[in-house]
Amino acid sequence: MRRLALGLLLLTGCVELGVISDGTSISVGKPSDGWIIDPVRMPDSGRGFTTRDVWRTRNQRFGTDELIDLVVAVSGRMSTRVRDVRIVIADLSGPGGGEARLWHRSHQSGRDVDLLPYMRDKDGKPFEPDAMHVFDATGTAIDGSGITLDVARTWQLVRELLTAPEATVQWIFMYQPLADKLIAHAEQLKEPEALVAKARMALKQPGDSARHDDHMHVRVYCSTADKQQGCLDIGPMDLWALRQQELAASPVLAAIGAFHPPVAAEPEPIAVAAPVAAPALSPADLRSLGRILRTRDLVLRRWR
Ligand SMILES: [Zn+2]
Repeated sequence: MRRLALGLLLLTGCVELGVISDGTSISVGKPSDGWIIDPVRMPDSGRGFTTRDVWRTRNQRFGTDELIDLVVAVSGRMSTRVRDVRIVIADLSGPGGGEARLWHRSHQSGRDVDLLPYMRDKDGKPFEPDAMHVFDATGTAIDGSGITLDVARTWQLVRELLTAPEATVQWIFMYQPLADKLIAHAEQLKEPEALVAKARMALKQPGDSARHDDHMHVRVYCSTADKQQGCLDIGPMDLWALRQQELAASPVLAAIGAFHPPVAAEPEPIAVAAPVAAPALSPADLRSLGRILRTRDLVLRRWR
């Protein structure tokens, strides 16, 4: 009885948190023709991430709640494994989104972010790059600096992005030979086939823009709530569909509002109807809920 009461308490509280979490920023239109309402500014630095003046001064530092939550949370989780360097975050979108022709064709609707991959210096030591470096197909900087792509750490970053509950990643644009190196590394590590399959879908060199040989460009799908406000996804929806399947198979993640729960036409009935799902939470579910809350380091900002 006491256990059930605890379950109800956890579930009700969390479902309410989930409903409220999606109520602020709205990504409108397409990444290459859109804007953002109530965007969030990416902090300049935090646990596991930083930026550089070149990007800070451009002020292309805004995104949707989901994108900022993703970058902050993924950087934080990476910092528990990679302790000596932080991820360098380059441009996101402008304060209201829209076109910033000088720098980007996309990046308009708050769902794009450029990141620098992990790198090593000429002596093989990890370092935080102060600029983008163009890599050749072997993962060596073409500027003669001896800088190389850190394939192992960058793969960990890709894995973290693809499995993060904060947002669903559609693309990680990258020069194809480098993307292929990351995938080969994952195969060598014997990462789960489902994860490697996702990486093959996400890690691509775009056919219609720069080849991304000096940075990674991450794009997330529209959140379910934003879709209803005019957010438009362009391109394959496979990774979105896979995420929805994972969500459906995990009552715990659904209950805590991860993966952007489907939003009903009237928001209130969701909170009222939520306790109906309570019997689905077994003691094992509750244990894994605790584990998720402990290990996934979910960002609870705005989940009050
Ligand atoms: Zn970009």
